[in-house]
Amino acid sequence: MSWLEELESKLRQNEEEQSLIYYEGLKHRKLDSEQLEAKATEWREILLDPDLWDRVEGELKSETHPVTHRKLELLRKWIIMTRINYNKELFELRHNIEKKVNTFRPIFKGKELGYAELREILRKDPDRNNRREAHMAVKPLLESIRGEAVESIKLANSLARKEGFTTYADLVLHMEGFTENELLDLFAKLKHYTNPAWQQLIELTRDNITTDIQPYDLTYMVYKLTHPPDHRFPRDKLLDSLKRTLKVFDLDPDTLPVKIEFCDIPYGGVCVVLKHHQDVRLLMNPREGYTYYGILFHEFGHALHSLYSPDSILLRDEGPFSEGMADVWAGLLEERSWLDKFTEMTPSEVEQFLTTRPIDRAYAFRFTIRHFVFELQLYKNPDAKFEAIWDFSFTYPLYIKNYVLSRLIKEVTYKFMREKYGEIVGNPYVVRFLIENYYQPGNLIHWRDKIKSSTRSDPLTTLGDT
Ligand SMILES: [Zn+2]
Repeated sequence: MSWLEELESKLRQNEEEQSLIYYEGLKHRKLDSEQLEAKATEWREILLDPDLWDRVEGELKSETHPVTHRKLELLRKWIIMTRINYNKELFELRHNIEKKVNTFRPIFKGKELGYAELREILRKDPDRNNRREAHMAVKPLLESIRGEAVESIKLANSLARKEGFTTYADLVLHMEGFTENELLDLFAKLKHYTNPAWQQLIELTRDNITTDIQPYDLTYMVYKLTHPPDHRFPRDKLLDSLKRTLKVFDLDPDTLPVKIEFCDIPYGGVCVVLKHHQDVRLLMNPREGYTYYGILFHEFGHALHSLYSPDSILLRDEGPFSEGMADVWAGLLEERSWLDKFTEMTPSEVEQFLTTRPIDRAYAFRFTIRHFVFELQLYKNPDAKFEAIWDFSFTYPLYIKNYVLSRLIKEVTYKFMREKYGEIVGNPYVVRFLIENYYQPGNLIHWRDKIKSSTRSDPLTTLGDT
C-alpha cells in the first residue's frame, strides 16, 4: 500500500466513525460532542502534520501519474480546508450552533412544535395570522445563536486571511473552482429567465392574498398553485413507490445496501454513509404529500451515487455535483410518465402540476439565490443584521448555492438523456449512463468537465427557460 492509500484509508475510517456519531445523534436527538471532538482531533493529527504538507508540495512537482497527481491536488485542498473547518475553536462554535438548531422547539400558539409542523403551517394554513406566527416562531432561535454565529464568521474569515484570501467565502468558492462574479452572473441570468413565471406568482399572490406580500404569503401561494393534492402521495405508499420505481430500472431494492429508517429528525430526510459501499442509511421523517416523495428520491439519489463512487475518499465528488446526483433521482417525480404510472393523479391534476412547474422553479431559484447572496454579504460584513433570513446552515457555510447548481445539473442531464434515450422513466440505459459517466469517475475530473464531456453542455452556461 502506498503512503497515499494508507492515508486515505485512515481518513475513510475516521469519516465513517464521524458519520456514526452523527447518525446516533440524529436518531437519539443528542449529538455526542465529546466523541465528535475526539474524532476531529484524530482528523487534525492526520491532515495537519507539517511533514504531510511538505510531502504533498514536493510530490506535486514531480508526480507524473495523472490519478496520483489529481489526488495530491485534492489532498492539498483538503489540508487547507482542514486548517480552517477543523480549527478547534471554529469547530466547537459551529457545533454549538448546530446543537441549538437541533434542540430548539418553536412555540406556536403557546405550544411547542417541530420544524416539520411549522413548515406545514407556512405552506398550507389559509389563515395569514397563523402563517405569520409560524414564520416568527424561529426568531428566539436566531437571537440565541446570534453571538456564536457572528463569532464563527469572523473567526472563519481570519483563518481564511492566513491562507491569503479576503474572506472565508472567497476561499470556499476558490476551492470549489468558482469565482464570486461568475456565480452572481449566473444567478442574475437565472432571475432574468425565470422572471415571467415569477411575475405570474407575484400577481396571483397580490390578487388572491394581499398587496403587502410577505415570505409566508409566497410559500403558501406556491404550495397551493404548484403542488399536487397531498392525498395522491400517501405516507404509507412512500417506500413502495420508490421500490416500484427502482424495479422498472432493473435495480433490485432488496440487494442494495440501503436501509430506510423513519424517525423524528429535524429535516425531511438525510442520507448517512455508515460504511462506504456497504451500509447506507436514509433517515426520513415523512408526512403525506409530494414533498416527502421528493425528499426520499433525492436522498436515494445520494445513496446510489455513493454506492457507485470510487473507493478513493479523495476522489469523492464535491457538493454541487452530489446534490445534482440527488436531484436527478428526485427529477423522476416531475416526469409525466412517472406521474401517470406511479400515482393515482388524474390527467387534469398531472396537467396542472406540469404547467405550474415554471412557477415552482422560479420561486425555488429566487429563494435559494437570495439566501446565498445574503450569506455572501454576511462574510463581507459580519456585523450586519441577519434576522431577516434565517434558515441557512452555519455548519455547512455557502452550501445552499449547491441547490441551484444541482437543479441545473439535473436539467442539462435530462435534456441530454431525453435526446439520446427517449423515455427516461424505466429505461435501464439511463442508470447505466449515470453510473458510467457520473458516479464511477468521481472527482477524477472536475464535475463541470465531467458533465461537459458526457452531455456536451455546461450546466453553468446552458441556460434556457426549461
Ligand atoms: Zn441532498
